[in-house]
Amino acid sequence: MIIPFIPHSKERDASVWLSHLQTYLPDHQICLISELSDAQKVDVEFVVAANPKDFDWSTLPKLKWIHSTWAGVENLISQIDLKQVRVTRLKDPDLAQVMSESVLHWVMHLQHLVVQYAEQQQHQVWQQHTRLSNREYNVAVLGCGELGSHAATALQTLGYKVTGWGNSAKQGLPFNYQYGLKQLEEVVAQANCIVLLLPLTDATRGLINRRFFDGLERSPGIINFARGAIIDEIALKEALVKERISHAVLDVFEKEPLPPSSWMWRHPSVTVLPHISAPTNPLTASKIIASNVSKYLLRTEVPEIVNPNRAY
Ligand code: NAP
Repeated sequence: MIIPFIPHSKERDASVWLSHLQTYLPDHQICLISELSDAQKVDVEFVVAANPKDFDWSTLPKLKWIHSTWAGVENLISQIDLKQVRVTRLKDPDLAQVMSESVLHWVMHLQHLVVQYAEQQQHQVWQQHTRLSNREYNVAVLGCGELGSHAATALQTLGYKVTGWGNSAKQGLPFNYQYGLKQLEEVVAQANCIVLLLPLTDATRGLINRRFFDGLERSPGIINFARGAIIDEIALKEALVKERISHAVLDVFEKEPLPPSSWMWRHPSVTVLPHISAPTNPLTASKIIASNVSKYLLRTEVPEIVNPNRAY
């Protein structure tokens, strides 16, 4: 069977995906969607897609299922009708591990006052500051799904005071957990550090706004490894001026690459990262995607899909 792959933009990285997918799906032919004729495209029922930018989905009228190579699918699902086409997003333990490593690194970076000491070195200032120990340091992890739960557990294991926050009740988590919009203020009020690992949806767009920042009591650091549009940028700028937020580590932005004119590049209390906190590993991801594709083809199991009502 032919399994088409739709790359992100250029076909630069596609060869890596084609090669790994082919290794794990040896009985099928993996090819670029652009290699199919128009007649072949008409019969395509499912594809593997890397968050394509400019793909014309109307060329695939029989499409029923998309397996995304990305964990975040807000852009992909904005291009299709989720009632017609099911979408499975990438859930890879390797990705969760890599994200946890990034979260640990940047939480410690803020906790250990690296920004202040780097600034002091610039001016040859020898001044010691008290830092909170792990057990005194409150970390709020907003979004406790595949990535957030892993990161919150890793932080908890190292002795941090972790509170996770999500949309629904959950049992048996190894860290404190609350859910629902009403609880958000309480979850973050005493935080020393806030980690964002929410999906971008209508409900989370602009969730981190002026009202949110005004409820913070300890001038925490904020780490956004989720999606840029979850933070209202103007409110963030104000919150930095008012010292509601001490430092922002931003890996994701509403517009990527971040335009050179953005104030965030030059702000001393902002660290800009180029969307690198948890890159997909095509090798581990291909194995997982291949397993889901095999189940789909055998019709033994429908891989988990994005809920059309929640949009994540
Ligand atoms: P996930 O498994 O779907 O988890 C999402 C979590 O957010 C769930 O705990 C969910 O709550 C919670 N949530 C969703 N909407 C909410 C709302 N309105 N209020 C409160 N909680 C809400 O997603 P994931 O795999 O962990 O990925 C999270 C995001 O990380 C992705 O969507 C993507 O944007 C981002 N990401 C970034 C990178 C990077 O390199 N920067 C890499 C990969 C992913 P429930 O569990 O209660 O439903």
